[in-house]
Amino acid sequence: MGIPFLQMVQVGAYVARQHIMGRKRYPLVLMLEPLFRCNLACAGCGKIDYPDEILNQRLSTEECLSAVDECGAPVVVLAGGEPLMHHDLPAIVEGTLAKGKYVTVCTNALLLDKQIDRFKPHRRFNWSIHLDGDAGMHDHSVCLDGVYDRAVAALKNAQARGFRVTINCTLFNNADPERVAAFFDKMKALGIEGITVSPGYAYERAPDQQHFLNRSRTKQLFRDIFACGRNGKAWPFFQSPLFLDFLAGNRTYQCTPWGNPARTVFGWQRPCYLLGEGYAPTFKALMEETDWDAYGTGRYEKCADCMVHSGFEASSVRDSFERPWQLLGILLKGFRTKGPMAPEIALTSQRPADYVFSRHVEEKLAELARESAPREHLPAAE
Ligand code: SF4
Repeated sequence: MGIPFLQMVQVGAYVARQHIMGRKRYPLVLMLEPLFRCNLACAGCGKIDYPDEILNQRLSTEECLSAVDECGAPVVVLAGGEPLMHHDLPAIVEGTLAKGKYVTVCTNALLLDKQIDRFKPHRRFNWSIHLDGDAGMHDHSVCLDGVYDRAVAALKNAQARGFRVTINCTLFNNADPERVAAFFDKMKALGIEGITVSPGYAYERAPDQQHFLNRSRTKQLFRDIFACGRNGKAWPFFQSPLFLDFLAGNRTYQCTPWGNPARTVFGWQRPCYLLGEGYAPTFKALMEETDWDAYGTGRYEKCADCMVHSGFEASSVRDSFERPWQLLGILLKGFRTKGPMAPEIALTSQRPADYVFSRHVEEKLAELARESAPREHLPAAE
């Protein structure tokens, strides 16, 4: 099925309004991380390597809903950490839906069966279940046997209860194209609404640093996968076709990280969902005070291999809006899987990586210590 028609129309109208208003940078998808705590410890994840004091932090329902208002993006993705470990997730979802947003909860589904009665199906709400391939691939990716089977059982249960269900799949350099294609076939046969797929970002804090894809491997991998499924037309992707065409090496994009701004327990993360190089206290400060030109392919070493949807999907949506005729060939023929690749942005002038993680953690811990310190007694009012 892919992205529902009404969602495409409503998001398209939002994009049109931004262009009419002459906005150079605008958010499309708010990445809202109400906690970092997770009940898994995946080898390719760089999001949960924090001390307990930080893992125990939660954004309140009020903070989440105020972030939704501040940002104004038409789509809100609740991620983490594992969002189902946040006790107030149902209220956050309900409150965000009440604001007219499309809401996706990204989950590993381990708690889904237990908690599903706390949620109600809605046409603007979907579960996005994390599955990095078939049972062998996924259990290897999440470093725990049996997770695939539990996630698929929860997926079927959610479907049976009338929820919209998609999957999100992150691929690494050990992915076998035919096996990935067979997995997509299987998911399609299960009747899922869509597939979101992306190469893994090489998080500096991820335990496994050996299996991240570089740009040329990413493009060839996606070409090989699409070639197994009628040039990609066999599957219901829940993504912009031009982003997938970018993954297949058929277009050159610079990232537009403001398209998927991230709000975490640290604040508004700059520059993007993947990189925490600093934090802004408000969305306005994030948009106006970030040195956006300091980031992106060819500008910064940590961006060199990034082709992740949270950085580039907004670039492709903008391109689809400005040159919609490009979609026609893809809709008719699928993605090109042979022939020369689009030119690559040169990496020769990128600035070296700045390692700031420890400083941010220390600052946050100091802030938490200040907040929990006993306050001096003030004299009682007379
Ligand atoms: S390329 Fe863009 S989206 Fe990717 S890590 Fe760099 S700033 Fe973030």
